[in-house]
Amino acid sequence: MSEQLEAWPYREAREILDHLERAEKRDGKSKDKPVLFETGFGPSGLPHVGTFSEVARTNWVRRAFAQLSDRPTRLLAFSDDMDGLRKVPDNIPNADMVQQHLGKPLCDIPDPFGEEESFSGYMNAKLRSFLDSFGFDYEFISSKDKYRSGEFNSGLLRILECYDEVRNVIVPTLRKPSREDWSPFFPVCENCGKVNNTRVTDTHPEDGTISYVCDQSFRGSQACGHESTVPVTDGHVKVGWKVDWALRWYVLGVDYEMYGKDLIDSAALSAEIVRVLGGEPPAGMFYEMFLDENGAKISKSKGTGLSIDEWMQYGPLESLSWFIFKRPEKAKKLFFEVIPRSTDQYLEALSEYGQTDDQTALLDNPIHFIEADRIDAGEDVDYGCGISYSVLLNLVSVLNTDDKDMIWDYLRRYDENVDDDAEILEGLIERALNYYRDYVLPTKEYQAPDDEEILVGVNQLREFLANYDGDDPEEIQSATYRAGKDNDIKLGKWFKAMYRMLLGQDRGPRLGTFIHLYGVKETLELIDRRLAGEE
Ligand SMILES: [Zn+2]
Repeated sequence: MSEQLEAWPYREAREILDHLERAEKRDGKSKDKPVLFETGFGPSGLPHVGTFSEVARTNWVRRAFAQLSDRPTRLLAFSDDMDGLRKVPDNIPNADMVQQHLGKPLCDIPDPFGEEESFSGYMNAKLRSFLDSFGFDYEFISSKDKYRSGEFNSGLLRILECYDEVRNVIVPTLRKPSREDWSPFFPVCENCGKVNNTRVTDTHPEDGTISYVCDQSFRGSQACGHESTVPVTDGHVKVGWKVDWALRWYVLGVDYEMYGKDLIDSAALSAEIVRVLGGEPPAGMFYEMFLDENGAKISKSKGTGLSIDEWMQYGPLESLSWFIFKRPEKAKKLFFEVIPRSTDQYLEALSEYGQTDDQTALLDNPIHFIEADRIDAGEDVDYGCGISYSVLLNLVSVLNTDDKDMIWDYLRRYDENVDDDAEILEGLIERALNYYRDYVLPTKEYQAPDDEEILVGVNQLREFLANYDGDDPEEIQSATYRAGKDNDIKLGKWFKAMYRMLLGQDRGPRLGTFIHLYGVKETLELIDRRLAGEE
């Protein structure tokens, strides 16, 4: 059955199986060793929706892998806290103090917030509490700990041994003036503590040391001129970014890592370096970036795009997961208006999940990944009632209320089983109220029809509703449709006029469903109020 599974995490999991086979051949990787998934985090800023989506997606691949293989797995969240600070981030306190430390490893810069032992210590703590708040199962690993404890020593010495070969991978990709001086190693200056200002002047593979001079100015950060010879081991030296990735993959034996599209070239070079060192690069895929409403890359400093907190004001976390799950290789616009649609698609998938017994369909449904915790806990994962988020938004809109009990009354009248989905609905109502208040209300503009032909259509619908004693959304829908069609009104124009009259907006839900939910009698009264020019 596993060959038939089509969701993208299974495709990735199959890549991992191929990778493991290659790794076993190349370096005799043990079949008993847990399969290692890694996600990287740059602790120069706070975790955000990109951090969440990378960890979530990696976890989904891990879950798919567990479907195909019995081998145990681990997920590492790796923090690059030995990286030098390249730029003082916006929106941090004590920016002047931090500016003095430009070029030093993040783990050696005081915490501008005064809470942790270092700048990266603060960011790492935020990362961990962020990941913990979503219940991710991961192990936190810090670059600083790996370097300074000596765990990276074997890889660092191996890079020194293969110095020229590693240079030969990277140097051709550099601009000519940078080629001669380029070294995989960046010594941490013993005098000024900076890692971005040093330049390697000689290598001594016979005793595992390198010589350097601190003479490179870096974005306004002055070099101190110090010269020395240091071991490449125990955190005296770090390796530059593409080599760093390779070092980690090589020493830890990483089997899977995904990365943003902007890092495709870096990942290819890192893979080449791992092979130079004698290892097998991990399997992995790239994902596309999030864009803002206008299709530009999201800028945290400009405040474009949406934060997770903002999303969760208007849609459940699972709807964000849904948005992140579908087609990771495609660029996505992350803004307000995608929330209702993602929420409805999530609810549809949830309801399909609850209604099938077909094992392949269950495993291929994104819900298998998004709701992993609830599924594994044996909870009933379903959404049986037919109330979509858009219908709920429109109900809130037409009721023009923040009275939850009133909304519940309407929902119960619509479907006597809604209480089975009470927990989900409660969350949706809360968010529909937020959405209405912040987004719909400011743009609402009721408009009673003044066009003769529309008025004829409205009267036909009035007539139908006044005499209707059924309870079928489909009958109401077709009566609504006929009221436009019979009077030769273009359907686009007809429905738009109905939405403007009833809801004060240009678009809306399927009217049959909506009128059924809001009530036939109530809709009739609403039409009369609007025709009388009342809001
Ligand atoms: Zn220095």
